[in-house]
Amino acid sequence: MKTIASVALACVFVLPQLHAQENRLPKEIIVGKERAKTRKEIHLPEIDGYQLLKCDFHMHSVFSDGIVWPTLRIHEAWEDGLDALSITEHIEGQPARQGIEKGNHNFSFEIARREAALRGILLIRGAEITRSMPPGHLNALFLKDINPLDQKDYMKVFEEAHNQGAFIFWNHPGWGVKEIKWHAVHDTLYQKGWLNGIEVYNEFEWYPLALNWVNEKNLTLMANSDVHDVTERLYDFRTMSMRPMTLVLSRERTEEGLREALFARRTIAYFYNTLMGKEEWLEKFFHASIEIRPPHYTTSSHRVLHIRNKSDVPFLLHKADTEAERYPAKIELPAGQSVLVMIPAESGIHSVAYEVENAIVTPERKLRVKLF
Ligand code: ZN
Repeated sequence: MKTIASVALACVFVLPQLHAQENRLPKEIIVGKERAKTRKEIHLPEIDGYQLLKCDFHMHSVFSDGIVWPTLRIHEAWEDGLDALSITEHIEGQPARQGIEKGNHNFSFEIARREAALRGILLIRGAEITRSMPPGHLNALFLKDINPLDQKDYMKVFEEAHNQGAFIFWNHPGWGVKEIKWHAVHDTLYQKGWLNGIEVYNEFEWYPLALNWVNEKNLTLMANSDVHDVTERLYDFRTMSMRPMTLVLSRERTEEGLREALFARRTIAYFYNTLMGKEEWLEKFFHASIEIRPPHYTTSSHRVLHIRNKSDVPFLLHKADTEAERYPAKIELPAGQSVLVMIPAESGIHSVAYEVENAIVTPERKLRVKLF
C-alpha cells in the first residue's frame, strides 16, 4: 500500500516537473516551419509570337525504375517552373518495386493527372520503349493508350505508337554504348516517319554527334532530365539555376500546341545555362532578350551604353571581329540584369560581331550576333 502511494505521489511530482522543463526551452531555439511551396517563374522571351514552353519529356516514377510516386513529379515540375512534363515509364521488363501493381501501363499517368490539372500544367501521356541497341530506348509522347505498346516485335510497337499519333524520339543515343552510331533500324524508322526527334542532352551529358544528326536530318532537338530520383537530389540547385529542359516554341499553352510545335521541329535545348538549337531560333531568342539603350554618356573618345538582359538565361559574349579593336573583348550579360558597356565614340564601324559562348548551333559553331 505504501509502495503504491509513493508511486502515485512520485507521478504527481514528476509529471508537472517534466512539463515545466519543456517550457524552459531557450527562446532562441527556432522551431521548424514547413517550406512554402512556391513556383520558380522562369522569364523567357516570346519569339515570333510563339511562347517558349518549358518542358521535361523524360522521367520515371516507382511504376518503372524510379523511386518516387508519380504525383511528386508533378509537384517538382510545378515548383521548377515547367509548363509540361511526361512521366515516361519503361514498358519492357518493368523493374517496379515489389508490391506495386504491374501490367497497367496507364496507371502512373492516371494517378498524376489530377495533380497536374490542379496546378495548371500539361501532363502528356508517354512511355519509354526500352530495347537493347539498336534501336535502344525511345520515348513516345501523346499516346492514347500505352497498353497496346506492350508487345514483342518492336517494329509493331513503333507502328502502334505512330498510329496513335505519337511523337517518337530517340533517348540518350550515347548512353551505355561503346560507339554512338546511327543504325540501319534508325534509318528505317526515320524513313517511315516514326522517328521524329533525338535527345541531344540527357541528365548530365550531351551528344555532339546527335546534334549533327538533328541538323542534317531535320529532326527535333530534345533535352530532358531522365530523372529517377527526387529532382532536387539529382541536380544541385546551388550550382545550377534550372533543371535541363526542352523549350518548345508553341502557338498556345495546350497539349495540341505542344504537339504541333514538336512535329514542326520548333525546340531549343536548355541545360546548364547553355542554349542549343537552330541558328534562327537562337538569334531571335538573343535579340528578344537583350535591350540596348542609346548612349547616355558620351565623351570625345567614348560612348557608354546600358545593356539589359530581360531573360533568365545569362549570356557570355566574346568579340569575333578582329577589326573592331577598341570594342570590349568580352561582355557578360547576367540573367535579369543590366551592364554598362563602353565603346568608341566614332569608330566608323556600324556593327561588331560577337560569339555567344553559351549558344550552340553545331558542335563546331556558336551563335554569332551583331551589336552596336
Ligand atoms: Zn528513361
